[in-house]
Amino acid sequence: MMAINTKDMYLELQNKKESNAKSYPVRFPLVIEKAEGIMITDVEGKVFYDCLSGAGTLALGHNHQVVTQAIEDVVKQKIPLHTLDLATPLKIRFMQEIFTLLPEELRESTKIHFCGPTGADGVEAAIKLVKNATKGKSILAFQGGYHGSTQATMSMSGNLSKKQHLQSLLPDVHFLPFPYEYRCPFGVGDKQTAKLSAQYIENLLDDPESGIASPCGMIFETVQGEGGAIPADIVWLKEMRRITAERGIPLIIDEVQTGIGRTGEMFSFEHAGIIPDVIICSKAIGGSLPMSIVIYKEELDQWNPGAHIGTFRGNQLAMATGLATLKYIKENHILENVNARSYQIFLGLSALQEKYQEIGDVRGRGLMIGIEIVNPHGHKDRIGHYPQFEELALTIQERCFENGLIIEVGGRHSAVMRFLPPLTITENETSEVLKVFEKSVMEAIQMIKVND
Ligand code: PMP
Repeated sequence: MMAINTKDMYLELQNKKESNAKSYPVRFPLVIEKAEGIMITDVEGKVFYDCLSGAGTLALGHNHQVVTQAIEDVVKQKIPLHTLDLATPLKIRFMQEIFTLLPEELRESTKIHFCGPTGADGVEAAIKLVKNATKGKSILAFQGGYHGSTQATMSMSGNLSKKQHLQSLLPDVHFLPFPYEYRCPFGVGDKQTAKLSAQYIENLLDDPESGIASPCGMIFETVQGEGGAIPADIVWLKEMRRITAERGIPLIIDEVQTGIGRTGEMFSFEHAGIIPDVIICSKAIGGSLPMSIVIYKEELDQWNPGAHIGTFRGNQLAMATGLATLKYIKENHILENVNARSYQIFLGLSALQEKYQEIGDVRGRGLMIGIEIVNPHGHKDRIGHYPQFEELALTIQERCFENGLIIEVGGRHSAVMRFLPPLTITENETSEVLKVFEKSVMEAIQMIKVND
C-alpha cells in the first residue's frame, strides 16, 4: 500500500467531514502550517505568496509583530477576553482611535455601534438603524454588490446562484445599475456608464410610478469586491451622495472590504470627498481578528437599547489587534505604500494586457485590483468586449497555486482574478508576485489551447 502523505491525509479528512458548503478549500487544496507577512507555508514546507489575505482582512499580512505583541499584552495584563459590550479602557482607546481616523466632518457628529463579529452582522445592523430612523422600508442596492451571507444581506447582494433556492428573503430590495464600465449595463461604456447610471437613479427616485416605496437607505461598496473588483467612478460617488442627500435617503457605504487603507485612503469614500451617513467596517478593522462596527451620524441614533445585540460584541483581543493595526498604518505611512504598490501592479498588469488578448480589463483602486479574463475567440458584446472566460480564469488560478501564488477568482462568471495582497507588500514581493502571475497566465493559455 502506498503511504499517504500528511497533506493528503489532512485534506482527505477535511473533505470527508467538513460541510459541502465550504468554499476556499475547493480551489485551494492547502493545509497551512504557518504564515508570516505575505508568505504562507504549508505542511509540506511549500511556500506561497498570499494575495488573498484572508479575503482582505490581513491588512498587515499574517502575524505582524505589532499584532502578535498586542495579543500577548492582553493576555499578560489579564484583560477579560469577553465583555459583551461593556466598557474597558482598551475598548475606549480603540473607539477613540477610530474617530481620529475619520474625516474631520465626521469626528464630532458620529456614533459607533459594536456588532457581532462579521461584516454581514454590521450590514444587518446598518439596515436596522436606518429603518428605525427613517421608518422607510425599501432598500436601494446595486447589481453586483455583495454584503454578506446571512439571509438579509444576501437579499441585498447581486449573486443569484447563491440565493436561487432560498425562499422569502428580505422583500423591498431594489437593485440599481452599478457603474461597471467594462460591462456597461447601458451598452455604452467608459465615463458614459457612470453618467447614465446616475441619471437613471435620479429619475427613478423622482418617478411617482417607480414602484419603489419610501426608501430607508442606499447601500453600496465604492469598489465592488466579490462583484469583480469594480471601482465606482468618482463623479458617480459624488452624484450618489447628492442624489440621496437631496431626498433625505441615508447613504450607507459598505467599507467591509474597502476600508482601513485597502484602496489607498483610510476609508474608500474619501477618494470622492463625500461624507456618508453610515459606514460599515469589518475585516481589517479587527487587525486579523473578528470585529465589525457601524459608524453613523448622530441624528440616526434613534434605536433603543438592545436594538441590535449579539453575544460576541466585546472581543477585546480584536480591539487590541485592531488598535495596533490602525496605529501601525497611520504611523508607518502604509497608505503611501498601498498607492506605490498599486501603481506598480497596474503597470505590470497593463504590460501583460498589451501582450495577452485574454486579459480584457485591468481595474481597481489601491490594492483591490481585478483582471477580467476574456475569450478572444468568442463574440464581442455590444461595447466591443470579448465574453468572460471562466475556464481560463480558473486555470490561471490553478497554475498560480501550483507556482506558489494564492489569488482569488470572483466576479460575474468567475472570470475576474482578484489581487488583495497585504497593504505592507514590498516592492520586491510585488515584482515576484507579478512574475509568478505572468508565468501562470502563459501556462494556462497554453493548456487551454492544447485542450481545444
Ligand atoms: N460586505 C462586503 C463588501 C464584503 O466584502 C463582505 C465579505 N466578503 C461582507 C460584507 C460580509 O462579511 P462577512 O463575510 O464577514 O460576513
